[in-house]
Amino acid sequence: METLTKHQKKDIRLIGKFVEVYCAGKHAEVERSPFQLPEDLGVRRICPECAAFMEYAVSKRIKCPLEEEKPSCKHCRIHCYGRRQRDKVREIMAYSGRRLMLRGRLDYIWHFFF
Ligand SMILES: [Zn+2]
Repeated sequence: METLTKHQKKDIRLIGKFVEVYCAGKHAEVERSPFQLPEDLGVRRICPECAAFMEYAVSKRIKCPLEEEKPSCKHCRIHCYGRRQRDKVREIMAYSGRRLMLRGRLDYIWHFFF
């Protein structure tokens, strides 16, 4: 089993939360099933489309070559995401960021990394 750094875990946990909030709001009519995040990061209920995206985002985060110097994905010099996925993550972050903010979940917002 892979061992993730604290930084990776924090980011992956955050991606999981954001995708779940987005999916619950945008794909309410689609059947959602449990998505197991790596290690002890828990389970998120999301639709197949979001699961495919989550798979992608998590694998990119695990493979990020800039672990040591990593500032945040927003300011990354590599931008490892494909064009389509970048548009998607921006949409997810904007949508879920707003929702979480309305619910007063500022603990998620302070590390708004995309
Ligand atoms: Zn979805």
